[in-house]
Amino acid sequence: MALRRILRIDDAVDKKTLKLVCRPVKLPDRTMRQLVADMFETMNEANGIGLAAPQIGLPIQLCVIEIPPEIEELDDGTEVEVAPAEQYVFFNPKIVKTSGDEVMRDEGCLSLPGWYGYVARNSWVTVEYQDISGKFRRMRKADGLLGWAIQHELDHLNGVLYTERIRDLATFRDITKEREESAAPA
Ligand code: ZN
Repeated sequence: MALRRILRIDDAVDKKTLKLVCRPVKLPDRTMRQLVADMFETMNEANGIGLAAPQIGLPIQLCVIEIPPEIEELDDGTEVEVAPAEQYVFFNPKIVKTSGDEVMRDEGCLSLPGWYGYVARNSWVTVEYQDISGKFRRMRKADGLLGWAIQHELDHLNGVLYTERIRDLATFRDITKEREESAAPA
């Protein structure tokens, strides 16, 4: 496995790649297993929950998401994992149905470390995609952290950056200068 460099929104050359509309991936493709492994490794190293292929310089329709495990603290202070981490790999994904409402989320991106801003997202989305073998699949009403991450990553595949979706620029700030904790970036 190998770590890949994550492109930055605030770098003029990187941004050109991040703004591309990504091309579909023809499946199956023997090179994809290694690429997917590298993307998970790169994302985990950066403490993110999602990463799209254009963020590592490849303008293809592939993104990965990892929802962290659910941890609960017992009365004696010990922590137990009540739900394991969930990994998702989406090739050629399309949102085919949305809740149509808006939930404001404090959103960050691995391509702009430290920065967050409020973005309106659907509370759930239904997505059609292909798995790594090329099989067509549908995920219905993905919500919560997963639903949000899907919307963020699919934006990347269309060359759309979350910074372009921030309506109130007063919410856009560098949280490394704040004390509060925000959700993991994607
Ligand atoms: Zn991002």
